[in-house]
Amino acid sequence: MAGIVVVFDFDKTIIDTDSDNWVVDELGATDLYNLLLPTMPFNTLMDTMMKELHARGKTIQDIKEVLKRVPIHSRIVQAIKSAHTLGCDLRIVSDANTFFIKTILKHLGIRECFSEINTNPGIFDDEGRLRIFPFHDFQLSSHGCERCPPNMCKGLIIERIQASLVNEGKKRMIYLGDGSNDFCPSLKLNKSDFMMPRKDFPVWELICKNRSLLECGVHEWSNGEDFERILLQIINSIILEDDTYKNGTLNLFSSMEFKAFESITMAAHHEALPKVLRVPH
Ligand SMILES: [Mg+2]
Ligand SMILES: [Zn+2]
Repeated sequence: MAGIVVVFDFDKTIIDTDSDNWVVDELGATDLYNLLLPTMPFNTLMDTMMKELHARGKTIQDIKEVLKRVPIHSRIVQAIKSAHTLGCDLRIVSDANTFFIKTILKHLGIRECFSEINTNPGIFDDEGRLRIFPFHDFQLSSHGCERCPPNMCKGLIIERIQASLVNEGKKRMIYLGDGSNDFCPSLKLNKSDFMMPRKDFPVWELICKNRSLLECGVHEWSNGEDFERILLQIINSIILEDDTYKNGTLNLFSSMEFKAFESITMAAHHEALPKVLRVPH
């Protein structure tokens, strides 16, 4: 293993849209969605929308077909495959739901690249209606973070992952996201970690305004090409920095991983990392 954990947001990070909006729009329920949006928490709204779609006769298969057409940049699929081949531990932290995410990842052929998917449970009931439950049951207790929506604090999930890594030796984290709820986890990253905010999206704006609150390195990205190039360059730089690698023992890699490392990083090897995000303090 490369000693690197890469954590991805899902909507507008791995896929190029919001999966909740995509399903609602494609199945023709946008009007009701807009009507209900101001009246209830988002998580409850999606559960209600799935009830409505079920009442309108939409089936599991209908939802699956719509999910398979979700827009995604091909370089992002390739980037995920490359990071996985390089031995990184890939995880998802998302406010979508397990059904949407797993259906899309399986369709793209990258489900097995991820060791963990942290998201709201999405489960079909006996009648074939998709139920969407909160990741954190806010009816029982609050997660206590004021920055985050009641059903999920991504920062707490990052802290849980960090705690679980303590026994596995030195690990470094790279986090990619776009939304305002990706700001809380970016505050948990350490000096040796990296945040990759999507440029001109809410988390990028929050980081620009509050750069001094983040300890980690920050590298912005805009599109699929950036996503692939910058992610692989950061992985590349971490691997090259690693003492074990410097000593020439290469025991972080299997020979297959090392071959992949050589070929994947060859193209980007001579390019310097893009400039770190410079913002006025
Ligand atoms: Mg997102
Ligand atoms: Zn939080």
